Amino acid sequence: MKIGIVGLGLIGGSLGLDFKEKGLIVKGVSRSPQTCTIAAEKGIVDLADTDLGILNDSDLIFICTPMSSIVSTLKKLIPHLNSNTIITDVGSVKSAIVCQCSPLWHNFIGGHPMAGTAEQGIEAAKLHLFLNAPYVITPTATTEQKNLDRLLEIINLLGSKLYICSPEEHDRAVAEISHLPLIVSVNLIYSCLQEKESKKLNLAQSLASSGFGDTSRIGGGNPELGVTIAKYNREELLRSLQQYRLSFDELIETIDNSNWERLQEILELTQQQRPNFLN
Ligand code: NAP
Repeated sequence: MKIGIVGLGLIGGSLGLDFKEKGLIVKGVSRSPQTCTIAAEKGIVDLADTDLGILNDSDLIFICTPMSSIVSTLKKLIPHLNSNTIITDVGSVKSAIVCQCSPLWHNFIGGHPMAGTAEQGIEAAKLHLFLNAPYVITPTATTEQKNLDRLLEIINLLGSKLYICSPEEHDRAVAEISHLPLIVSVNLIYSCLQEKESKKLNLAQSLASSGFGDTSRIGGGNPELGVTIAKYNREELLRSLQQYRLSFDELIETIDNSNWERLQEILELTQQQRPNFLN
């Protein structure tokens, strides 16, 4: 099985490291010659180039570019491919990507490895990044079973927890557990910054410790990724934010009414339910 990877950054580079470790032949394409040199030198791929043509004999290609470039990358790839090549992507939102890519290439199957770090680029590539992390595959009614089986066989090599669902189901779920927390975490920092008195703000910044660190971590991440997620999953993110506003209003009202019994009930419920989101 010959693997191709387009976009040698955190995700593409990490896939390369894992597939090479499993003994597969991996070729990579990135925009910058410097990225390609680093990828080859670090053994992330067997061959790296800026020319998509090197992927003409690939059996399976992972498009790992930023989301805004996935569709245009597929269009540029098509002239180089044979009709059996399976193409998948790793974009964090699925409906918008799958809707545009499936009509272009009959063997396109969307995917999303749900692992990452705060870093970006080829230098951030990490062996076993996907081990035990969820990896979602989003086939459609037109996906051929034999292509899905081949993709699953390769993804299984990463040691990820595989999930199969529709692109729409994926986008709704990740809006709730990934995209909503991002905006909430952003607002945590943004809201603190509304303090007009610099002395009070400085004190809050000095006293911030592990609690603020845990809850603000994703809000302090890559702005481009956050904007892209909001843009591509706008409808589902808005739906989650509306639901969040209702729950938040209830919490404000509960505290405003000094209804400590009700607050205790809510906190007991969240304490009891949190493990169900993390196991
Ligand atoms: P990244 O570290 O910035 O890597 C993307 C790489 O793609 C860049 O290093 C860039 O390398 C290359 N690139 C950019 N445009 C390209 C193009 N048009 N053609 C070829 N190569 C191109 O980003 P990432 O975190 O790996 O994210 C990549 C994808 O994974 C995104 O679609 C994202 O939604 C998805 N994803 C990210 C995470 C996460 O936590 N980061 C998790 C799951 C999925 P050059 O220097 O060579 O241009």
